[in-house]
Order: sequence, then structure tokens, then C-alpha cells
Amino acid sequence: MKDYLKEAEEAYTPLLAIEEASRCLLCLDAPCSKNCPAGTDPARFIRALRFLNEKGAAEVIRENNALGAICARVCPQEKYCKLGCSRSGIDKPIEIGKIQRYITDFEANLKMEILRKPEVELKQKVAIIGSGPGGLELAALLRMKGYQVTIFEKDEKLGGYLRYGIPSYRLPNDVLDLEIKRILDLGVKNLVNHPVDDDEFKKLKEEYDAVVVGTGYELAKTLPMFEDDPHVELATQFLKRAKNEGGDIDVYSDTLVIGGGDVAMDVVTTLKRIGTPRVIDVVYEEFNEFRASQKELNEARALNVSIIDGYVPMSYDGKVVTFKHRHLPSVISIEPKHIILAVGQVVRPQFDLDYNLGEVVTNNYRVGDSNVFVVGDIAKGDKTVVGAVKTAKEAAYFIDSYLTKAREK
Ligand SMILES: Cc1cc2nc3c(=O)[nH]c(=O)nc-3n(C[C@H](O)[C@H](O)[C@H](O)COP(=O)(O)OP(=O)(O)OC[C@H]3O[C@@H](n4cnc5c(N)ncnc54)[C@H](O)[C@@H]3O)c2cc1C
Ligand code: SF4
Repeated sequence: MKDYLKEAEEAYTPLLAIEEASRCLLCLDAPCSKNCPAGTDPARFIRALRFLNEKGAAEVIRENNALGAICARVCPQEKYCKLGCSRSGIDKPIEIGKIQRYITDFEANLKMEILRKPEVELKQKVAIIGSGPGGLELAALLRMKGYQVTIFEKDEKLGGYLRYGIPSYRLPNDVLDLEIKRILDLGVKNLVNHPVDDDEFKKLKEEYDAVVVGTGYELAKTLPMFEDDPHVELATQFLKRAKNEGGDIDVYSDTLVIGGGDVAMDVVTTLKRIGTPRVIDVVYEEFNEFRASQKELNEARALNVSIIDGYVPMSYDGKVVTFKHRHLPSVISIEPKHIILAVGQVVRPQFDLDYNLGEVVTNNYRVGDSNVFVVGDIAKGDKTVVGAVKTAKEAAYFIDSYLTKAREK
């Protein structure tokens, strides 16, 4: 495996994990747990680790979050659990994600099987379209209740952006593969290389008791002046290539990245890690309004990425890109070998669903009075992995109620 694909952050040793857990103040009201969208309950798993009960800690995580090892690595914790940590008032918040990673690594090393196979087999069938975190979490929850669950995925492998977006040095494929294997081992069926089109969607609605759409934000945004230019690549295409070409990826002598969110930081960091000598990132926002997390920005800076803030692209003649500052009378021109646009992702509306600002209009995840439900980015809520897990946990409750009523009729 090429070095740039290897997990970048060091794991805790048992001693360091227990030391970190012992910094926990054991708050009664557990604000960290209240701030976890997925209800992974850090207060309980940290307490268990503090009392050297790794097995109990692993059970708390896995029973609350089928993607616990993934969330440990990719959650923007500063926005969630760490934001609530009372220890911040004394020195700095507990490293909740690193503790969660230590415990889920322990679970993997011991080959623990915490997700339970269903005790009853129900006849009702659920189709899930899309295998991102929303679809995967939902598949686990409904299967554990006994439903016959099939995932339909248009890509070659399951995982959505977990597999084809988030770089391997932050989320290694073996961690993702194990989380998915545990879910499939419950008896979830899956059809890959299987894009569902409008006609099949109509058939699924008739053949299955419930159909769940978890198709995510598939389209990368572009800017009109760069459309169809052979030197220009979209961020998600580049990251997919970098992740899946087994390390054999072209290195350009210098690359211009346009955009300043977390995806842009993944692009610039990946470029540096594969050995691109000069990476310039031009960002619309100024530093005080930056969208990327401070952690990712710091990592990019540490790798010597030149970040130029507050500029908008004005023109591109096929070679030179000219930018103008948003407020100052300043113009810059850059002539890169390669350009990557990281200006956001949007939904590709499918199946005639009604969208409002990128989210499908639903009532408690259900589309009208049909047997169609939604999860993940296209449902209301945060566009993050743990946000998708939350939608799946909530949707599972409403789908189960709907199917239970249908059974009892
Ligand atoms: C580069 C990148 C980095 C990110 N980093 C982070 C991070 O560090 N932390 C974080 O919390 N979030 C991150 N995110 C956001 C996070 O990945 C998403 O919020 C999350 O994946 C959304 O999950 P989802 O369930 O909606 O499905 P998605 O992951 O969007 O997957 C949707 C799936 O549906 C499939 N599909 C679509 N249409 C069809 C069809 N018609 N038939 C069959 N299958 C279909 C697609 O192929 C895909 O596999 C990142 C996103 C990107 C792009
Ligand atoms: S799942 Fe994410 S947000 Fe929740 S406790 Fe774990 S790291 Fe924090």
C-alpha cells in the first residue's frame, strides 16, 4: 500500500487511552452524550473504560451506533461531543473520538460480535437505495428487528462517500470493510453495480413493504467558466481516483484548488501526500469566515499548502485563472498544470420526489402517505456521517411503527 493511503493519526496505546479517560469529570448531566447526534453515549463508554471495562465500553458504542469505528475517525467532534465536554472549562476537552477509536479497535482485535442476529424472522421486505452511512445504519437496525432487507447500490462497492470520498488516511478501507461485513453478516442482502432507475423504483414500491431512498448528495458543483475543460477535475472525482487507484495516481507539478470547505482540505492534503510539489488553494471566504474545521486547515498548512483567502475567480482562458479580491482592489493570476474544483456537492433529484433546499419533503422521514422513506443527506439534518446515522436511527423507528401497523391490520 502506498504511504499516503495509510491512516495518519496515531492510535492510543492502552495506557494513553485510560489516562485520557481518567481526565473525564463524570458529569451527571453528560453534556458530551447530549451533543452526539447518533446517541453513541460517550459519557457511558468513557466511564466503562475508566473502570478498565473495555468490553462493556465496546458494547455501549456498538449497541448505539453500527458505524462506531467510522464515526470515531471522521466525526467533526468540535461541533458535537467535544463541544459539550465540561473538561474544556479546566484545560481542554477529552479526546472522545480517539477513545472511541481505541475501544472499537479493541472490539475488532477481539473479534467481538455485538450486533445481534434477529430473534424473529418477519416476512416484510425493505428495499434501501444507496449504501452510504444512512443506508448502512438503517439496514443494520431493521435487520436486527427481523425485516428482510436488501440494499441496492449503483457503485461497485458499498459505502457511498465513506468508500469513494473520505480519504483513506482518515478512514482506512479495512475499517470500513469490517463495519460493512458485520452488517451484512446479520443477513442483509445487497446488489451492487445496480443503479435503480424510475421504472425499477415504481416496481420496488409494489414489491417491497417499504422503500427507503438514501441516495445522498451525488453531484459535485462546478463553475460555468470551467465546464468541460480537460485540465479541470471535480473534487469528488479526484478523491475517488486517489482512493481507489491503489496509489498509482498522476502527480502534477503544480495544482490549483478552488474552494475552502472540508472537502477542499481533503483535496489539498491528498495532493501533498501524493507528492505534488506546489499546491495553491484559493478560497472565497476570508480566514475569519472559513468553513473548513480548524484541524483540517492546520493540517493543510503544516503540509505547506498556500492558502489564499477572499478571492473569486473572474476569468479562465484555458491556461490562466484570474481572481479578484472580494473587498480589496487586488487581482491575481495563476497558471497551474491542473485545476480541482471543490465548491460543494448538491443533490441529483431522483424518483420524482419533492425537494426543498436539497432535502426531500417528508413527514417523519415518510414521503406523503406512501411506503417511501428517506435517510442520509437528502433527509432533514446535518450533512455529516453521524448526521446520517441519526436520520437512520430516527427513520428506523418510524418505519418499524409503519410496518408493525401494516402487519397488525
Ligand atoms: C470528500 C468528502 C469528505 C467528507 N468528509 C466527511 C467527514 O470527515 N466527516 C463527516 O461527518 N462527513 C464527511 N463528509 C460528508 C458525508 O460523507 C456525508 O454526509 C454522508 O456520506 C451522507 O450519507 P448518505 O447516507 O446520504 O449517503 P452517501 O454517502 O451520499 O451515499 C449515497 C449512495 O447512494 C448511491 N446511489 C445514488 N443513487 C443511486 C441509485 N439510483 N441507485 C442505487 N444507488 C444509488 C450512491 O452511489 C452512494 O453510494 C464528506 C463528504 C465528502 C464528499
Ligand atoms: S459518534 Fe461522533 S459525535 Fe458521537 S460521541 Fe462518537 S465521535 Fe462524538
